[in-house]
Amino acid sequence: MGSTTADHRASELRQLLNRAAHAYYVLDAPEMEDPVYDRLYRELLDLEQAHPELIAPDSPTQRVGGAPAQGFLSVRHRIGLLSLDNAFNTEELEAWYGRLLKVLDREPATALPMVGELKIDGNALALSYEKGVLVRAATRGDGEQGEEITANVRTIGSVPLRLQLEHPPEWLEVRGEAFIPDGTFAAINAEREARGEALFANPRNACAGTLRQLDPKVVAARRLDFFAYTLHLPAGWQPAAGDSPLPISQWDSLQWLRRAGFKVNPNAELLPDLAAVEAFFQSWDAGRRQLDYATDGVVVKLNDLQLQDAAGFTQKAPRWAIALKYPAEEAPSKLLRLACQVGRTGVVTPVAEFEPVPLAGTSVSRATLHNADRLAELDLHAGDTIVVRKAGEIIPEVVRVLVELRPAEARRLELPHTCPECGSELVREEGEAATRCVNSSCPAILRGALRHWVSKGALDVDGLGSKLIEQLVDRGLVRSIAELYRLDGALLSSLERMGSKSAENLVAALKASKAQPWHRQLYGLGIHHVGEVNAKALAKVFSSAAELATAAIETPELITAVYGIGTEIAQSLQQWFATPANQELLTALEQLGFSLAVSESELSNAPNASAEAILSGQTFVLTGTLPSLSRSQAQALIEAAGGKVSGSVSKKTSYVVAGAEAGSKLSKAESLGVPVLDEEGLKQLITP
Ligand code: NAD
Repeated sequence: MGSTTADHRASELRQLLNRAAHAYYVLDAPEMEDPVYDRLYRELLDLEQAHPELIAPDSPTQRVGGAPAQGFLSVRHRIGLLSLDNAFNTEELEAWYGRLLKVLDREPATALPMVGELKIDGNALALSYEKGVLVRAATRGDGEQGEEITANVRTIGSVPLRLQLEHPPEWLEVRGEAFIPDGTFAAINAEREARGEALFANPRNACAGTLRQLDPKVVAARRLDFFAYTLHLPAGWQPAAGDSPLPISQWDSLQWLRRAGFKVNPNAELLPDLAAVEAFFQSWDAGRRQLDYATDGVVVKLNDLQLQDAAGFTQKAPRWAIALKYPAEEAPSKLLRLACQVGRTGVVTPVAEFEPVPLAGTSVSRATLHNADRLAELDLHAGDTIVVRKAGEIIPEVVRVLVELRPAEARRLELPHTCPECGSELVREEGEAATRCVNSSCPAILRGALRHWVSKGALDVDGLGSKLIEQLVDRGLVRSIAELYRLDGALLSSLERMGSKSAENLVAALKASKAQPWHRQLYGLGIHHVGEVNAKALAKVFSSAAELATAAIETPELITAVYGIGTEIAQSLQQWFATPANQELLTALEQLGFSLAVSESELSNAPNASAEAILSGQTFVLTGTLPSLSRSQAQALIEAAGGKVSGSVSKKTSYVVAGAEAGSKLSKAESLGVPVLDEEGLKQLITP
C-alpha cells in the first residue's frame, strides 16, 4: 500500500474505531460487533507497524480502554491496569511465544510452564485492601486512572470486605473481573423491556453500566459477581510464620486469593507447554457454552512471577500474557462483486462475493443476499466494507455495511434488469419477493432442471454431475430433459474428462432411470411447490401424468382435496400442465419409454401404492355437511381413488362419511356397525 493510501486508510480506521470505542467504553452501548472491532483494530495496528510515521497520539492502539466517566471520582492506579494482546490463531500464539522466549533470552522451543484461565467477558476491577479491609474499588478506566466505585463494589457478594488473613500486609491490590451471569442478564433485560427501556447489548455492557450506577441499591439489585485473578503484594513483604507462603507463581497467586476469601474461577489449569495451551483452548471453545457466564476466549499467562517481571510490558499490555480469542462469528470484509444466480425455477438470487474471511472455523467468501428487497435494504455500494456473519452451521449472511468505510462516489448496486445468463428481461410480479427469468430456454434454468431431474430423490442418475451438465448445455448438446436420453456413448466420451467406460455407464444409468416410480418422475419434473412429499401424495391419488393433468386443468378441486395439498400447489400444477413446452416434454418422455404412471410392478408389490388400489372395491355413503368438501367434491375424490359412492347404507357399505347435521344414514351406520369417518378421516384414508 502506498503511503498516501495508507495514511488515508489509517485515519479512516482511527475515526471509526475511536467512535466505536467511545460507544463501547463510555456509553456502554456498543455500535459495532466485537470481532469486527478486533479485525479493524488489527488492520490499523499492522498499518502502523508497516508505517510507524502514521502512529497518531489519538490512535486507539495507543490507549487502553476509555476515559473515566463523569459523576465518579477519578483515581490513579497504584499499578497500571493494562489490556491484553490477542492471538486469533495458532501461528499468532506461536509468534507470541517465540517473542517471549527471545525477550527472556531462552532457546527456541524451551517449554515454560503457563497458566490457562478463562477470559471472562466482564469488566476489570482493581480492589485495594488496607490491613485486610476493602478501602477502594476502581474500574480500569484508561489504564492509569479509573473511576472510584467502592460503594457499588461493596454490594457484590463475592468481593470480601475483609480478607481471611491472620496477618494482612499494610496494603494489597487484587484484580479480577466483575461480571453478570447469563440468567441474571436475561432477567435484567426482561425488566428493562417491560419498562420500555433500551436493552443492554450483552452481559459485559450490562455489567459496565451497572458498575457506573450512581445508586448502589440499583447495583445490589443487579446481583453482580466477581472472579479474582491477579494479586499485587508490597515489594519485600513476607507472610508471618504459619500463614500462606508468599506466592512465586500465578498458580500460587490463584490459590492464595482463594484462601484469602476470593472467588477464583475453578477452570484454570497449569499448562506445561504450547501443545497443552492449544488443547486447553480447544476444549473451552467447545465447553464454554455450558457455562452460565460469557467468556470470549482464554488467557494464557507465564506461570513464574520472576519471569513475568523479566518479560515486562509493552505500552499497552504485558508481554507475558496473551488472550486467545474464540473463532469469530462475525467479520468485516471487502465486497468484490455482486453476482447473480439463476435457479431452476428462474428465480434470480443476488450473491455477495467478498474477500475470504475465517468465520466459525471455515473460510467464507460468498453469502446470499436473498432478493432485491434485501439488497435495497442493505444499500450495498461497489467496494463497500460489509459485516458478514456465520455462526456454526448457519449459512453466511451479510449483516450490514460499514458506511464509514465506503469509497467516495461509490455506485449503488442493484439487480440487473436482464438475465445474466440469457439476456432476457427479468420479471418481478406484484407482491412477490422474487425476481425471475421467465425464458424457459434460459441455460441456467435448463441446467437447474437437469440437475434436479437426475438428483437423488428424483431419477437418481449416477455420473451426471454439475460440471458435465454445464458442458452439455453450453455446447448445445442437450436442450431439454428428454434430450439427455438421446445422448450416446460416442458423443459423451468425446467430452472433457469422460472416458469411454464412464460414458457407457452413464448411458446405462440413464436407461435404468426410466424404471423409476411415477412419484419420482413427478418430483423430477421440478414443478414449483411439488417437493418429494407432495409428489408422493399426488402420485397416490392420480396414477398417471394424464390423470393429474386432466384434474389440474379441469377439476382443481380434486387436487386440493388431496391431503396436504393446497390451492397454491393446485395453481402451480395447473400452470405447469397448461404450458405447451411442458406438454411437449411429457410427450417426448413417453416416446422415450417413460410410463409417467404407476407401473404394474408397483401395483402388485405395493397394493396401497396406487390411488385405485386404495379404495377399489369399497363403497361409501355420504351424509351431512363436510367442513371443506362439497358433496360432489367428496364423491369425485372417492371415485378418483377407485371407490364407489352409494345413496343408502347397508351391511355392505365400507364407510359412512358423516359431516355436520348428519341424519338417519348415520344412525343406520351405527346400528349396523359400519365404520364412520369425518372429512379428515377420508383424506387420510386416501393418503395414508
Ligand atoms: P480485552 O478485553 O480483549 O482484554 C483485556 C481484559 O480482559 C482485561 O482488562 C480484563 O478485564 C479481561 N480479562 C478477563 N479475564 C481475564 C483473566 N483471566 N486474566 C486477565 N484478564 C482478564 O481488552 P480491552 O483492552 O479491554 O478491550 C479490547 C476489546 O474490547 C476488544 O477486543 C473488543 O472486542 C472490545 N471492544 C469492542 C468495541 C466495540 O465497538 N464493539 C470497542 C472497543 C473495544
